[in-house]
Amino acid sequence: MKYRIRENSFWARVAAKWLRSEKMAMVLGKTIHLHNTTCEEFLGNRRWLRHELAHIRQFRQLGFLNFLWQYMVESFRVGYQKNRFEVEARAAEWDVNLDSYVFVPGKHQLKASIPPFPTGMSAPRHQHKVTPPAH
Ligand SMILES: [Zn+2]
Repeated sequence: MKYRIRENSFWARVAAKWLRSEKMAMVLGKTIHLHNTTCEEFLGNRRWLRHELAHIRQFRQLGFLNFLWQYMVESFRVGYQKNRFEVEARAAEWDVNLDSYVFVPGKHQLKASIPPFPTGMSAPRHQHKVTPPAH
């Protein structure tokens, strides 16, 4: 499975405001949208990366619109924390199967050096914050 990353994303900025999170990563289809963080920082945080890759897997499993719809319904009914897609993505932060996903850099990202994953599991501090139910 291949994925792309878009920095300075409009949609990630909207989501960051919504969730009142300083930094934000969100997934649309096979693209991870970032706000106020860089490719390097994001890719260097393995748990954060896996969390978002799990959402890519969910998009793939359910189909683009179907997933968006179900995600919204779920968020509306049980909130962000208990949203089953978020519960699954949080569990997937330890799912090594997701490490096989391949990052396809954009033209401007080709020169960016991607640091190797750290061996330790650093806590995803910049995970989307857990205040209001949304995202
Ligand atoms: Zn999530």
